[in-house]
Amino acid sequence: MEITDVRIKRVVIKGEKLRAFATVTFDGEFVVSDIKVIDGANGLFIAMPSRKITDRCSGCGGKNHLRAKFCNDCGAKLAPERAAKDAAGRAKLHVDIAHPINPECRQRIQEAIVKAYSEAADESGAAPSEEEPEPGNRRDPAPGAQMEGGDDTFDREIFS
Ligand SMILES: [Zn+2]
Repeated sequence: MEITDVRIKRVVIKGEKLRAFATVTFDGEFVVSDIKVIDGANGLFIAMPSRKITDRCSGCGGKNHLRAKFCNDCGAKLAPERAAKDAAGRAKLHVDIAHPINPECRQRIQEAIVKAYSEAADESGAAPSEEEPEPGNRRDPAPGAQMEGGDDTFDREIFS
């Protein structure tokens, strides 16, 4: 599987480690959008598109996010701490929509995105890179690409 195109949409949100959204094309015919570029403690990494996990209110059957304290539909009080925990003991609130199934594939996707991001940053003068941008590499977001919303992985601290 070849990565045939990477498009970067840089974002600047004060206080956030999110740096960009990436849209990646595989084999010239399959597109995954909403991949996040995050500036972590050990450098840039990617987060695959994900969605919030929901469960259903026992009273009315309405869907609610796992951190919701009250049902959106009937207002009933919901059980706190009902999200499953991961190995590190953190509540699992999101699930990937699309993701690689082995570390090698993740690494290839991450390298391609970080490279494209660095080149995009280079153009704006924000983060100089020693690499020359490849000719023909498009860095503009796809027309109609969804850059807002979609995902809320980053509100896990403020969502309560
Ligand atoms: Zn309810």
